[in-house]
Amino acid sequence: MRIAEIECKSMLVASKLPASDYVVNPYTGCSFACAYCYASFMGRFVGEPIEAWGEYLSVKVNAVAVFQRELRRMPPARRESTILLSSVTDAWQGVEKKYRLARGILEALHAEAYPGQVMMLTKSPLILRDTDLISALPRTEVGVTVTATDDAVGRFLEGHAPFATDRLRTLAALNQAGIPTYAFVGPLLPHYRYRGDLLEDLFRCIRDSGTSSVFVEHLNTSPYIVRRIAPLVRDEPAEVQAVYAAARTDEHRRALSDMVMDLVAKYGLEIRLGRVLDHNRDKKAAPARSSLQGSA
Ligand code: SF4
Repeated sequence: MRIAEIECKSMLVASKLPASDYVVNPYTGCSFACAYCYASFMGRFVGEPIEAWGEYLSVKVNAVAVFQRELRRMPPARRESTILLSSVTDAWQGVEKKYRLARGILEALHAEAYPGQVMMLTKSPLILRDTDLISALPRTEVGVTVTATDDAVGRFLEGHAPFATDRLRTLAALNQAGIPTYAFVGPLLPHYRYRGDLLEDLFRCIRDSGTSSVFVEHLNTSPYIVRRIAPLVRDEPAEVQAVYAAARTDEHRRALSDMVMDLVAKYGLEIRLGRVLDHNRDKKAAPARSSLQGSA
């Protein structure tokens, strides 16, 4: 992992994602290195190819100061806006222990008594370090990405991300601390189409963690993402390759969406936006607000 310290000019960036008005990204790159991450395109801003995603990280060392300045200048009419931390990195990845940028941003929001919604999304138990600040903000919601209950399945596509079981424990700990939470099931891994028992186990574990609300999104099969996933799948047995090939079809997505809708109903979960998100289909209908996937 190559780590560089850089200075940024802005931190509070208007968002095109569903459910957030602004995004805040204290790092460029992500050491968790998920193969399916849509944020791999970010390399173009720091001169890195898509294939190098997960091998570099730029730390915006002035992130907190810049964010504080922008927050103070925010017009009163905008202070009800929803801010997402983060959209193209995981703000609680390992280096956060040293740089404490996510924590600094939460401290700035607290100091300003920011009244709007602050949404977080992470794969990291490190967010539990910040439960004091999160609890002190008036409107927060913490999302944890959970794609599997089996650590080996998660490891296949999620390079160095924390284990799936640790993420479920993180959700439970947040719920025990009284913090509003949601689970982000994204990407919805293609093999669930043929293993309804494993998909059911995933939603049951989310419900058992105390979380009652989920975002769910199909695998983003944009060509630049497929380029990163393909080498992993190529080493797998023929049946796994066939599953990933089928994942791009409408028929697969419809069948998997139906399975998810049945399970969220069975386990009494709320599905955000009322459906399984599908970047590849939604962007044709609404290109500006079509995807959540890749945010941690
Ligand atoms: S999906 Fe999230 S955790 Fe994984 S590499 Fe991308 S930003 Fe990091």
